[in-house]
Amino acid sequence: MSIIDKIRYPWEVPPREGEAVEVAEGVLWMRLPLPMALDHVNIYALDDGDGWTIVDTGFDSKRSRAIWRVLLDGPLSGKPIRRVIVTHHHPDHVGLAGWFQKDFGASLWTTRTAWLFARMLQLDEQALPRQETLEFYRRCGMDEEIFNERRSERPFNFADVVAPMPLGFRRIKQDDTIHFGGRDWVVHIGNGHAPEHATFWSTDDNLVLSGDQILPSISSNIGVYATEPEADPVADWLESCERLSQYARSDQLVLGGHKLPFTGATVRMRQLIDNHHGALERLEKHLETGRTAGECFAPLFKRQIDKASYGLALVEALAHLNHLYHVGSASRTLREDRSWLFQKIS
Ligand SMILES: [Zn+2]
Repeated sequence: MSIIDKIRYPWEVPPREGEAVEVAEGVLWMRLPLPMALDHVNIYALDDGDGWTIVDTGFDSKRSRAIWRVLLDGPLSGKPIRRVIVTHHHPDHVGLAGWFQKDFGASLWTTRTAWLFARMLQLDEQALPRQETLEFYRRCGMDEEIFNERRSERPFNFADVVAPMPLGFRRIKQDDTIHFGGRDWVVHIGNGHAPEHATFWSTDDNLVLSGDQILPSISSNIGVYATEPEADPVADWLESCERLSQYARSDQLVLGGHKLPFTGATVRMRQLIDNHHGALERLEKHLETGRTAGECFAPLFKRQIDKASYGLALVEALAHLNHLYHVGSASRTLREDRSWLFQKIS
């Protein structure tokens, strides 16, 4: 392995709240806090001369808006945000897009699926979990105590952390070339973490804006939800990783949605693929006896799953089980308690 075939982090520490780090000419890296185990999201501002294009926005909260105001007056030197690019529909990325559209007159550029999903979920406010969601939790074999808590609690609602989204967006799609921040960027679409997730590959220098499709040091959550219980996002993820690997170069500076900017994209892409193949192998062994998704944390996660991460772990476990089921490595039967029992086909 040569010296360049390594993952390196040119900046050891992230920008402080309300501050920015220039990672390339005209490209600022900033952070917004998240009230979760993963406690931050990266956002980028690219200088368009008379204004900025920003990539992703953070949650909508009083605190985020206050930090944005500090950023606008400080590092962004009072120039307007004219365009918001959203990589995928998750709330830490799309949260304030509607605010920038409505209050600042910015235009929103994102994929069609990201826009539709974000807007649908923003409007779909529920005081209690839907019947379909509870039934889906049953299918996953959710822990009884957690199930009983969740059935009577207000669920996670997009509307709580995503600003209302006005009508109107500009569609981004595969192979588009978009000009912002003084560079041309080719769009490559990824899937698996979020459907139709946009990534941007500069053709003028070595920058990649990867959202959560390519992250260093942590794995992007790959989950199955009640919206599409039979989905196989692990297959989508692996297909995306293999396809995007073709464009990865060791000298690229990858600017992702979380953690630190890094170089060594070719190594990282290989790791992302290998990690899931490894997880699937361990899971398959674990299915010598029939198991529900709730009984599959040990082979998949190298850490204790606490209550705060239980939901993400459960949807990720089902995603890997669905994959084994769809490729014909596992069978699926319905147990008396209405949970799906997966078992290795030998
Ligand atoms: Zn994210």
